[in-house]
Amino acid sequence: MTHSRPTRVLVTGGAGFLGSHLCDRLLADGCDVICADNFFTGTRENVLHLRDQPRFELLRHDVTFPLYVEVDQIYNLACPASPVHYQHDPVQTTKTSVHGAINMLGLAKRLSVPILQASTSEVYGDPQVHPQTEDYWGHVNPVGVRSCYDEGKRCAETLFFDYRRQLGLSIKVARIFNTYGPRMHPHDGRVVSSFVVAALQGLPITVYGDGSQTRSFCYVDDLIEGLRRLMATPDAVTGPINLGNPDEFSVLELAEQVLELTGSKSELRFAALPSDDPVRRRPDVSLARRELGWEPRTPLAAGLALTIDYFDDLLRREG
Ligand code: NAD
Ligand code: UDP
Ligand code: UDP
Repeated sequence: MTHSRPTRVLVTGGAGFLGSHLCDRLLADGCDVICADNFFTGTRENVLHLRDQPRFELLRHDVTFPLYVEVDQIYNLACPASPVHYQHDPVQTTKTSVHGAINMLGLAKRLSVPILQASTSEVYGDPQVHPQTEDYWGHVNPVGVRSCYDEGKRCAETLFFDYRRQLGLSIKVARIFNTYGPRMHPHDGRVVSSFVVAALQGLPITVYGDGSQTRSFCYVDDLIEGLRRLMATPDAVTGPINLGNPDEFSVLELAEQVLELTGSKSELRFAALPSDDPVRRRPDVSLARRELGWEPRTPLAAGLALTIDYFDDLLRREG
């Protein structure tokens, strides 16, 4: 007699912003979840509400070291994602992407289980093709301040595809574009969290450059749905596949929306543009539409409203 048991899933970086939402979703889907995190940018608070769930296990673990667990699927999300965080210790950032990928691929190889990599639109660098399609090879400075992240993630993609070609692993590579929502770190320096927190506190909103640079912002729930759909695809579907919201906004437009939705009187201040800051970014999501039947559903104003509620509550609690 065969007993069906829950799918056991490892989420590295599971105590971070995206990882904690993924853990929520996997548990809601009936999976057993092991969340492995070294708490560099993630926090126990992000997964505190899961602590009494018998199907949830939290491990303090750094993915640059080997990990021996028994699971059926792996989502590799461990890596600081905001420029402020990943530039804090750039050597460790590259190690996390590269050694972390090797260890998690080694684990996937030993267990013969599918593994999904949280890659990034940063592999396109400061793109000269717009919107970005997956066949674009990118325009990345290999020696700049963003390189530890960009090149680390590019090398991780290389490792994923070589483990597939050489060893037949089942891999899924998602290129994630700017994603926002509740549980972003309030001081991670990312644009949505920084603008919302400043607006709620009535402090100046700092726009880098003239604010004409663009980004395309995806609400977290839409992104998590995309990751789940990608993991559920047949072995032949490997990606890389863009996941993001194709609605493009300038940073200045984002600031105006945040001011309007919060009703804040914060003033806008302008500061120097950081080096290698991409000028334009927007995903072409035709491939995700075709292969995953996926489409982001949350417009920016709706997602921002939910994010503002979260930070408003957090700031009140923190006093
Ligand atoms: P985050 O910083 O909130 O989460 C990253 C998590 O990884 C944190 O919990 C952190 O403590 C953990 N971590 C870092 N180094 C680790 C290590 N060596 N070992 C174990 N854990 C480690 O960021 P996020 O936005 O949730 O991003 C999650 C993943 O998605 C990252 O890989 C990131 O590169 C990718 N991504 C995110 C976005 C986005 O807009 N949010 C866009 C593109 C790609
Ligand atoms: N690894 C791991 N967990 C496992 C199996 C492997 O962390 O269950 C690590 C292991 O430490 C190794 C890496 O994954 O350094 C790559 O493994 P692989 O089998 O590809 O290479 P090798 O062990 O031959 O170097
Ligand atoms: N940005 C800004 N003010 C901030 C934080 C970011 O103007 O307080 C700009 C930043 O220069 C970039 C965009 O917003 O052009 C998105 O920055 P973020 O760090 O969120 O993500 P990434 O540059 O990695 O897309």
